[in-house]
Amino acid sequence: MAKPKVGFFDFTGCEGCQIELTNYGDADFLELLKHIDIVEFREAMSEKADHLDIACIEGSFTREAERKRLEEIRKRADIVIAYGACAATGGINALKNHTTDFREYVYGKEAGSSHLQSNDKALPISAAIKVDYNVYGCPIDKYEFLHIISQLLHGETPEIPTYAVCVECKRNETICLYELGEHCLGMIALAGCGAPCPAQGVPCEACRGFVEEPNEESLEKVLQSAGLSKERAQTKSRIFTANMRSEA
Ligand code: SF4
Ligand code: SF4
Ligand code: SF4
Repeated sequence: MAKPKVGFFDFTGCEGCQIELTNYGDADFLELLKHIDIVEFREAMSEKADHLDIACIEGSFTREAERKRLEEIRKRADIVIAYGACAATGGINALKNHTTDFREYVYGKEAGSSHLQSNDKALPISAAIKVDYNVYGCPIDKYEFLHIISQLLHGETPEIPTYAVCVECKRNETICLYELGEHCLGMIALAGCGAPCPAQGVPCEACRGFVEEPNEESLEKVLQSAGLSKERAQTKSRIFTANMRSEA
C-alpha cells in the first residue's frame, strides 16, 4: 500500500517549528518516516507533489498576496494542519496588529526595505483557508505533533486539549508559582504541553494561546495582585495571544 504523502510549507514565522521537527534525534521520527512519504519540504528538497494526504503549514498569513498560495495548497491536500502558534493563532506576529510601527527599532537603516513593507494584519492560516487541525505552541511540542500525525494515519480524530495549563500543572504536582511570589498565565492558557515551564520555575506565557472564552479580566486582576502594573498585566497576557484578545 502506498504511504500517505505529506508536505511541509512555511509562511511568516521564524521557522523554529520546522527546526523542532528536525530535532527529534531519536527513533520516533525515523519510525514515522517508515509510514509516510515527505513529498514537499522547502528546507530539504525542491520536488512538488500534485496531491497531498496531509499538508502541514507553519507561519502566519501576513500578506494578502499569500492567499493564492494557501488556496493552492488547500486544493491539493486532503487534510491541512496549521502547526505552531504563528500558524494556529497568528502567534507573536500578531503583536504588530496592535502596536505602532517599530520597524526602525528592529531594522534601523534597513527599515524602508521593500521586503519589510507589510501593512496587512498577521493572522492565523484559518483566516485564509479551512484548517482541519491546529497544533499549538511556540515552538510546537514535537512529540504532540508526532502523536497527532500518528492518530491521523490510524484514521483517528486527534484529541487536542481544550482545558487550561493549570490542570496539567496540578497533575504534575508542581508548586504554583503564585505561592512563590511569581506570576503565571496558566489559568487561561491552553493546555497540551504538559506544563513544562512552571515545572522549571518559569511562568507560563500562554504560548499555545488561550482557552475558549478566557476570563481575561480576572487574569489581569490576578497578575496585578502578583505585583504587575495594569499596563504590564495587559501587555504580558498579549505576547502570544494578540489575535485572541477580546478587543482583537
Ligand atoms: S510558532 Fe514560534 S517557533 Fe514556531 S515559527 Fe512561530 S515564532 Fe517560530
Ligand atoms: S504555576 Fe501557573 S500553571 Fe501552575 S497552577 Fe500556578 S498558575 Fe497554574
Ligand atoms: S507552560 Fe505555557 S509557555 Fe510553557 S509550553 Fe506550556 S503553554 Fe507554552
